[in-house]
Amino acid sequence: MSLILNGKDLAEKIKKELKKEVEGYISKGLRKPALAVILVGEDPASKVYVKRKKEACEYVGINSLSFNLPESITEIELIELIGKLNGDEDVDGILVQLPLPSHINTQNIIESINPDKDVDGFHPLNMGKLATGMSSGIIPCTPLGIWIMLKHYKIELFKKDVVVVGASNIVGKPMSLLFLKNEEATVTVCHRNTKDLKSQTTKADILIVAVGKPNLITEDMVKDDAVVVDVGINRLENGRLVGDVDFEALKNKVSAITPVPGGVGPMTVVSLLINTLTIYRKKHGFSVHPLTEI
Ligand code: NAP
Repeated sequence: MSLILNGKDLAEKIKKELKKEVEGYISKGLRKPALAVILVGEDPASKVYVKRKKEACEYVGINSLSFNLPESITEIELIELIGKLNGDEDVDGILVQLPLPSHINTQNIIESINPDKDVDGFHPLNMGKLATGMSSGIIPCTPLGIWIMLKHYKIELFKKDVVVVGASNIVGKPMSLLFLKNEEATVTVCHRNTKDLKSQTTKADILIVAVGKPNLITEDMVKDDAVVVDVGINRLENGRLVGDVDFEALKNKVSAITPVPGGVGPMTVVSLLINTLTIYRKKHGFSVHPLTEI
């Protein structure tokens, strides 16, 4: 029986600790941390994600400021709003929920956010800091959540082979950079044009899958003692939520595996809270947040 890496329970535990942390700031007479959350349009999945993020903020005592904008908003209007939030001393983090409508250039929006308030860590400056191993940047939420989970479960990285499937800017690439940071593991990144995916995934001691295709990774593609982290979120026609990995076939084979739901998703949300507090702590002269010491 594999160890189930329970992101849901771990996220709840961390949220309780963060709540206490925020109470500590308030008792010192400091203002509440604040996160501006910008949602453009009516995408149902984005609305659900934003709701979860806002609820998590409220639970720990982070003030979440909502900006629900119509689909018709122009890129310039959105950049103007971000400019105002960049200049607002009482706003710590700025989150723009992705994806954005096709008439808005996502990269222009990411680059308009002050890197010091870039709570998602997608700004090229923060990505560059991650790529060059600098400790002062903000790490994208999903890779950070996975990292915290692996550390919590004491998954050994030293001299291990890590294979990351999927090379997006928000998950696959920053995840691989994070594994490279301390030069403990050897990292392979697979993508759409990988010649023989199975020959790569069967080498993995630690397999991270972030593609968005149900059952992409089947039992024969994973070795027995691997640790499998399934980032994918796919809604099947029958309404069931599944990842990219055949969980049922692997849950008795591998040494550890994340479920979907209840694995990486809650860790992503909790990392958003951690990143907001990282920015807040820096502003108030506190040391680096202990959970982001990597
Ligand atoms: P994305 O931007 O669509 O990236 C997917 C990556 O996988 C791309 O690099 C894509 O290449 C590559 N790919 C496509 N087909 C492939 C194949 N057959 N073999 C190997 N690589 C392939 O998606 P994302 O934002 O990274 O998200 C990936 C999945 O994770 C989605 O299901 C998303 O919903 C989920 N997600 C979950 C969380 C969480 O908190 N649990 C957070 C973020 C995302 P191309 O660009 O060439 O297509």
